[in-house]
Amino acid sequence: ADPLPLLVGTSDPVKGADRNPNDADELVHRREQHFASVQEHYYRHPPRIERGWQHTMIDVDARCYLDMVNNVTSLGHAHPGVERAAARQLRRLNTNSRFNYGAVVEYSTRLSELLPALLDTVFLVNSGSEAVDLALRIALATTGRPDVLAVAEAYHGWTFASDAVSTSIADNPNALETRPDWVHTVDAPNAYRGRYRGPDVGRYADDAVETIHRLAAEGRPPAAFIAEAYYGNAGGMALPDGYLDKVYAAVREHGGLAIADEVQVGYGRLGEWFWGFEQQGVVPDIVTVAKAIGNGHPLGAVITSREVAERYRNQGYFFSSAGGSPVSSAVGLAVLDALRDEKLQQNARDVGRHLKERLTQLAERHELIGAVHGSGLYLGVELVRDRETREPATRETTAICERMLELGVIIQPTGDRQCVLKTKPPLCLDRESADYFVDALDHVLSTGY
Ligand code: PLP
Repeated sequence: ADPLPLLVGTSDPVKGADRNPNDADELVHRREQHFASVQEHYYRHPPRIERGWQHTMIDVDARCYLDMVNNVTSLGHAHPGVERAAARQLRRLNTNSRFNYGAVVEYSTRLSELLPALLDTVFLVNSGSEAVDLALRIALATTGRPDVLAVAEAYHGWTFASDAVSTSIADNPNALETRPDWVHTVDAPNAYRGRYRGPDVGRYADDAVETIHRLAAEGRPPAAFIAEAYYGNAGGMALPDGYLDKVYAAVREHGGLAIADEVQVGYGRLGEWFWGFEQQGVVPDIVTVAKAIGNGHPLGAVITSREVAERYRNQGYFFSSAGGSPVSSAVGLAVLDALRDEKLQQNARDVGRHLKERLTQLAERHELIGAVHGSGLYLGVELVRDRETREPATRETTAICERMLELGVIIQPTGDRQCVLKTKPPLCLDRESADYFVDALDHVLSTGY
C-alpha cells in the first residue's frame, strides 16, 4: 500500500464539469494529427491535460495532478476573476491597441506604478520572447550599436533576437553554434557548480566587468547587457550579491543599457521581492515581463524610461496588433487585482519558505539532493551522484520525475545538465500541497525510481 496521504485524488474537482470522458481518445488522436510541437517531452507517457483548477491539472481521464511547474498560470488555473474580466471586455471591445483608451491606459499605468519611478513607459506585446526582442531593438536603436552581452546558459525566448541571446543548450541544442557574432557572453554565475564558489563568487562580476571593458577597447561596447535578475536555468539560483550593480555600472560607463529579464522571476514569485532585480538593489534601464502577468493569456511588456522610449520613437518602429489589446489589458488588470486581494506574493513567501525548509531537511536524509536553491515559490532541487564531485544526476532526475508523475505530481528537470527539479508552482499553492510534494519526493527517493 502507498503510505502517502492521497491529496491528489483521482477525480475531477471541477464542479459541473461539462466534459465527456468518452471524448478522451478522440482528443488525443486529433492532437497527434494536428498539433505541432518540436520540443521533446520530458515524460515517456506525458499526461494528457485537459483542464485545470488552482494548482491542480486534470487529464482527459479526470485524473488530478499537483502542478509544481506552472509559472505561467501564476494565480492558478481557471481563475474566476480573470475569466470575468476577459468576458466583460470581450463583450465591450477588442481591437488593436492603437484605438484602445480604456483598459490599456489603466493597465500601463498600474504596471508602471509597480516599478521604480524612472521606469514609467510601457510597451505591450504578446509574450516574453517578443518583450525581449523589443528590449534588444530599443537598446540597439537608441545606442546605435550592434553588440549585446548576455549570460551563458540563459534562456530568453524563441524569436530571432531573443533566441540569439539564449545560450542554454537545454532549450536549444544548437545554441552555441548558431550564436551570431553580435552576441557576447559572460560565464553563468553558478555558485554551486561553476568556476567560482564560496568566497570567490564575487569574481563572476569582476570577469563580466573585464569583458565589458575589453569589448569597449576593441571598439565594440555593448548596446546592452541582458540577464535574468536571478539565475533561472539553474532552477532559480540567486546571483552573487552585488553582481548586477557592478555589471550595470560597467555597461553604463560605456554608454550601454541594462536589461532585466523578469519574465520568469518577476511579479511576486520570489516572495520577498516583487521583482528579482530588487534583491540586487539595482534599477535597470529596461525591464521585460510576460508569463505571470497574463495568467496564461498571451501578454508581455517592456517597461523603460520616458527618455529611452522617446529616443526609440525617433529611431525605431513598434506596433503590435494584439499586444495590449483591450482584452489582454483587462486580463492584466484582473491579475494585478487578484495578486493583491489574494495576497499571493505573501503566500509565495510563506509557503515557499516552508517548502524550502522541508526540502532542505529532506536533503539531510537523501544524499542525492546536492542543494536546494531559490526563494519564494521559485526553487531548484539539484540532484547529484556525489556531493564532493557534484556529478549531475541527470538520468536519475528524469526517472524521479516519471515516478512523481505516477504519484500525481508534475515536476520537470531543468538546466543544461537536466539535474535540477525546477519548482515553480502557481502562487496559490497551499502548505498541504507543498507537504504532499515533499512527501512524494521523499517516498520516491526512499523506495526507488
Ligand atoms: N525570458 C525568460 C527568462 C523565460 O524564461 C522565457 C520563457 O521561458 C522567455 C523569456 C520567453 O517567454 P515566452 O515563452 O513567453 O515567449
